[in-house]
Amino acid sequence: MDEKQAKPRRPLWFWLFVGLGVVVLIFGLGAPRALSNASEEEVTYDVFLTALEEGKVQEVELKSGTLYYTLKEAAQPAPTAAPQLNFGFRTLAGSGRKTTVYTVTAMDDPDLVNRLHAAGVTFSENPGTGNMLLLVLIQYAVPILFYVAIFSFLFRRMGKLGAGGGLMGGLGKSNARSIEGGEVKTTFADVAGQDEAKESLQEIVSYLHNPQEYTEIGARMPRGALLIGPPGTGKTLMARAVAGEAGVPFLSISGPEFVELFVGMGASKVRDLFKEAREKAPCIVFIDEIDAIGKKRDGFGGNDEREQTLNQLLSEMDGFEGNSGVVVLAATNRPESLDKALLRPGRFDRRVPVELPDQGGREAILRIHCNRIKTEGEIDLAAIARITPGASGADLANVINEAALCAVRSGRHAVTQKDLEDSVDVALAGKQRKSMVISQREKEIIAYHEVGHALVAAKQKGASPVHKITIIPRTSGALGFTMQADEDERFLMDKQEAFAKIVTLTGGRAAEELCFDSVTTGASNDIEQATSIARAMITRYGMSESFGMTAFEQMVNPYLGNDTTMNCSQETAARIDREVIALIDKAYDQAKTILKDNRSKLDEIAHVLIARETITGQEFMDILNAPVALPVSPEAKPE
Ligand code: ADP
Ligand code: MG
Ligand code: ZN
Repeated sequence: MDEKQAKPRRPLWFWLFVGLGVVVLIFGLGAPRALSNASEEEVTYDVFLTALEEGKVQEVELKSGTLYYTLKEAAQPAPTAAPQLNFGFRTLAGSGRKTTVYTVTAMDDPDLVNRLHAAGVTFSENPGTGNMLLLVLIQYAVPILFYVAIFSFLFRRMGKLGAGGGLMGGLGKSNARSIEGGEVKTTFADVAGQDEAKESLQEIVSYLHNPQEYTEIGARMPRGALLIGPPGTGKTLMARAVAGEAGVPFLSISGPEFVELFVGMGASKVRDLFKEAREKAPCIVFIDEIDAIGKKRDGFGGNDEREQTLNQLLSEMDGFEGNSGVVVLAATNRPESLDKALLRPGRFDRRVPVELPDQGGREAILRIHCNRIKTEGEIDLAAIARITPGASGADLANVINEAALCAVRSGRHAVTQKDLEDSVDVALAGKQRKSMVISQREKEIIAYHEVGHALVAAKQKGASPVHKITIIPRTSGALGFTMQADEDERFLMDKQEAFAKIVTLTGGRAAEELCFDSVTTGASNDIEQATSIARAMITRYGMSESFGMTAFEQMVNPYLGNDTTMNCSQETAARIDREVIALIDKAYDQAKTILKDNRSKLDEIAHVLIARETITGQEFMDILNAPVALPVSPEAKPE
């Protein structure tokens, strides 16, 4: 099977030859056409001999086992008054004279030549085909070549449609990007944080360096390692680093590249990939985004092409022996969707989680990327790491790049700490919309809203400290935001903290209602977030008295968004809704109480914010803790 699939593409000359062969075949079978101007009559050999004996034969020609002969003028059945003609066969055609040419199958007659000579007959043998060949070529070959050309063009077009692999052209190519050993320059030093993942993979690296050590003991290397984690955490980067560290050839292909227009093509690509890998062993095969082909096979009319590809992958991974030196790495952010068969020991038996970086990890990633750009002044990457909880490696790389772009835009030659901080805001809420005109009243509402959040956060136990408050509109649609940042990373959230979060989120709307006696659309995002936390507390975290530790919702895919599925009766769902509403109401009341108790500080800070548009957490705390009110600009009086 392999050989068949791996047939090289046939060049055009191949088809030319096939065409020519067909021409020759047809020509060989066909009757000679140069005699078309003469009438032909087939006779038996004895008729020919009699004519010869009677001296009636004028001329004889032997061609491919057939004798062609003509009779003398006088012997013609219907003689016409004709001038003397050159009677050579080659000039027969076009002579205008109707002549009967008799054909007879030649027999093994060694005496014939003597007899012909004695009878004074002109005779010849015509082995060639003369200009008849040209005629036949034009009649048959040209149209055949024409069709061959059209078909080969169409097939090639079809092949291109099938994403790279041509029906005639690309058959037997795996499309894997192959990088020779030692050419990958990425190493573990380029991957910050992720120490556990590196450790897991280090073993594979040292196996590829020194396989004997493992075979001696009888250890079998894991054939495959599956890197799993949210997007942008450095899975692809890590796989390249393994190749760079091991210094072996690196065959990389992305899962979606296996999925082809034609059923069976993906499977053949897998075959070719592993064939190539076995030839190059020791080497690393890396299949990125493997969920594209590794999805669970289910009973409901699955995708044939994908299943065949998966089956081929499964059997290939079983195919090579324990220590063949081929290590398969794969990456995915949807591990829960992978087929169980793919995960059983002997295939991807090692799972390497590549999680979002913690605070230290973020700082390390920032440092790696920061080393590639020019900076000036004091750069505090720890501070940036503190305000970017939940950011992935890719996000952080982007923050650094944005900062560099920002520096260039403002005509500077190096990046400052402020560039970095602004860049975080851009990543969080989009670019500033300086052109947006906001009325004074709206500006006041926005300021009170944001200070409401900040003040409620500051006055509660368990809420994160305020880092920054701003009322500059952003391209994401946010009219302002309050950024909170923990000093240290938090990994657990207790019930009180979760509730404090909801109270903080309701603080914006509470301030609006308290000071302007109106509610605006500005709180929609706060409401969404508050609701989802409240829901999660009740349905997933077991933080509700009436339900206790029962889960009513499950996370669908933890690495891509927080999609959940409900799993309870309608009656329970209605009760959950009522609890969610009650919880948020309670939080809202609490926020309002906090703001009422601190009304003067709310006014004071809001006015400072209106005047400056952005204040830091430190400035906020200074005003909050100041015993006496600082002077306030007179035009910004609350209503
Ligand atoms: P994934 O494959 O997990 O989606 P990538 O490996 O493609 O993510 O990462 C995208 C980019 O993010 C990398 O090219 C790198 O610049 C940056 N990055 C991600 N994680 C790290 C890390 N741990 N250390 C350094 N850079 C990282
Ligand atoms: Mg990737
Ligand atoms: Zn808000």
